[in-house]
Amino acid sequence: MKSISGTNLEQAKSHNRRVVIEAIRTNGPLSRAAIARLTALTTQTVSNIVEELASSKLLKADAPQKVARGQPITPYSINPSGAYSIGLELERHHAAGVLTDLSGTVRARIRRAIDRPTPAEAMPILAEITEELQRSYRFDRQRLLGVGIAMAGRYATEGVTSLTPIALPGWQDFPVAPELHNLVGVPVLVENDATAAAIGERLYGVARGLNSFVYLFLGGGIGAGMFLDGHLYRGSRNNAGEIGHIIVVPNGLACRCGKRGCLDRYISLGAAYEYLDIRDPDEHTQAELDALVENGGEAIDRWLDAAVEPMRQVIDFLELAFDPQTVVLGGQMPSSILERLVQRLEPLYDPVNPSAERNIPRIMIGATGNDTAILGAAALPVFSETNPQFDVLQKPVG
Ligand SMILES: [Zn+2]
Repeated sequence: MKSISGTNLEQAKSHNRRVVIEAIRTNGPLSRAAIARLTALTTQTVSNIVEELASSKLLKADAPQKVARGQPITPYSINPSGAYSIGLELERHHAAGVLTDLSGTVRARIRRAIDRPTPAEAMPILAEITEELQRSYRFDRQRLLGVGIAMAGRYATEGVTSLTPIALPGWQDFPVAPELHNLVGVPVLVENDATAAAIGERLYGVARGLNSFVYLFLGGGIGAGMFLDGHLYRGSRNNAGEIGHIIVVPNGLACRCGKRGCLDRYISLGAAYEYLDIRDPDEHTQAELDALVENGGEAIDRWLDAAVEPMRQVIDFLELAFDPQTVVLGGQMPSSILERLVQRLEPLYDPVNPSAERNIPRIMIGATGNDTAILGAAALPVFSETNPQFDVLQKPVG
C-alpha cells in the first residue's frame, strides 16, 4: 500500500484533507482505521476529516462490511459526482474541451475546428466551449473546481515563448490564465502538455500511486513531465523537462533553437513528417497527419530506425539522473506508432543496478491515448485541490 504521512497540527487541516483523499485515491476504498494506519494521523483526526469530506460529498460511504468480531466496517471511496473539472486543449487546427467528474470519467466533450488563432480570437472560443460543456451535462455548477489548459510550450514568466514546438502567432508572453479567468469566472490553470499528461497519468492512469516517474510526451517536439519523490518537479523557471534540446548527435541536424543534433530533430512528430516529405504540416488537419504517419510504410520504418538510438540514450540519461520507478511514453503520436517505437527500444542500456528486482516495467505506455493532453488538463484543477504537494503547482488564478 502507498501512503504519505500526515500531520496533526491544526493549521495543517487542509494538508491533512488532501492526504486522506490521496490515500483513498491511490489505494481504493478504505475504512477510517485503515486511513489512520496509512497516514499516521490519529483516529480522531481521520474521523473528523472523513465526516467533513463526506458531508461536502467528496467522499461517499460504501456498504458496511461485516467483520468476525465487533462493529461492521464502513469503507469510504471518492464520490465521482463530488466535484467536476474542465480540460481544454488548443492546437493549430482545433480547440477541444472535456468535462470530467472527480473519478476522471468524461461526462461531456466538444471539439471545434479553428485555424491558427491569435489569443484575441481563441479566448472567446475557449470560453464558449467552457460554457457549453457546463450546459451539456446536468450537474451542480458550484461543484466545478476549475478549468485546466494544456499547451505545448517552453515557458517565460507570462506565457509560452517563441521556442514552443507549435508556436502559434501572437501567443508569446500572452497571459492565458488571467485572460481566460476573466471570461469564465472560475479558477484557470495552465501547464505544459508533458506536465499535464504526467498529472493525468498519476491521478487516473498507469502511474497511479507511483512516487517517482518520468513522463515523455511525444508531439510536435518531445518534453518530459517529472514526479520525483511524490513531488511534481518544475524547475526554477518552470522549464524542467525541456529535454527536446538535449544534444544526442553532436554536429547533427540543425534545430530551430540554434543548436545542432537536438533530440527534437530525431524523435518528434516533426521529424516523422520530414521522413514522409510533408513540407508544411500546417496544410493538413491533425487527422490527416495521423493517417499519413500510420500509413507511412517504409519511410516511417526508416524514421523509427533513426529515432531508436537517440531515444535509448535519453531514457538511459533520465534513469541515471533521476532513478525513476518507470518511464511512461505518451503524447500526440498515434498509438500504433508509439507501440512500434517501444518494441524497438529493447535492448535498453543496462540499468543502474541490473540485479535489483523490478515489479514495474522500465518503459510503460500511457493509458489515455490521444486524449492524454486534454485529460491531463482536466486533471490540473483536481490535482491542485486534492494533492498533498499541490503547493509546487502553479497557483491558480481566481
Ligand atoms: Zn534544439
